[in-house]
Amino acid sequence: MKIRHGLTIAVVVLAATFLAYAIWGQRETERPTIRSLRTAQDADAPDGEPREFEDGWKVPSFDPRIEILTGIDLFRVPVASRLDYPMGSANGALTYNAQPFWEMNASRGGRHTGDDLNGIGGQNSDLNDPVYAIGNGLVIYAGEPDPSWGKTILIAHRLPDGRLIQSMYAHLATIEVPLDEPVVRGQQIGRVGNAGGQYLAHLHFEIHEADGVSLGQGYMNYRTNRLNPIETVESLRPTDPTNLGPSVSEIVQEIQRENLPFPTGF
Ligand SMILES: [Zn+2]
Repeated sequence: MKIRHGLTIAVVVLAATFLAYAIWGQRETERPTIRSLRTAQDADAPDGEPREFEDGWKVPSFDPRIEILTGIDLFRVPVASRLDYPMGSANGALTYNAQPFWEMNASRGGRHTGDDLNGIGGQNSDLNDPVYAIGNGLVIYAGEPDPSWGKTILIAHRLPDGRLIQSMYAHLATIEVPLDEPVVRGQQIGRVGNAGGQYLAHLHFEIHEADGVSLGQGYMNYRTNRLNPIETVESLRPTDPTNLGPSVSEIVQEIQRENLPFPTGF
């Protein structure tokens, strides 16, 4: 009798413990919501996941050095079968290159990672001139990474041969395209600026071959993933006048009229 009584108590205690454990496990734990997994810039952590710090759960701040594009972003990058100049006109008229790609700049301690495009008037005459997307692409960064870059846009493009490149437009006065939006070749994306008055107005224009967001520095001693911007644009500018495709405004008007899905590869 005594043994049976003991056994009953043991079973009850065990059941109560199990029940308490189950209820504890079901409780609502307070965690911040995941902000976004959509894009490199929206995801404030490598995978947008909050982490526990000493003073609670936080989403670590954005570190552009370790961001890669998501599979969905890569899928959404349109094909840019033709590239044009980002300033002046489609063939680069009305601009000059004040500091060509990979020119040594001893005072800055390295080689220039892009082309500095200026209006032919020089000085600040090109301040607020329009800056155009060089090809169909997806805006993968739009913001101010640090004071020396100023307002900066990165657009990802898929080349006809499958390679993924990015065009970068820095020191802008304005950013006129939202992050994560597709753009068409020739679309105005911003205006030429001086990075908050640090330089004479010009467009610092770079091209990277990359599948992530890495803004890097304006002067480096290693090429890494930097391509010659003007050479890259020229390599995808057809000389055959019958191969120029419809104008961007024609396409945009057609989309608005017909409510068509966004085109790729024209
Ligand atoms: Zn520059």
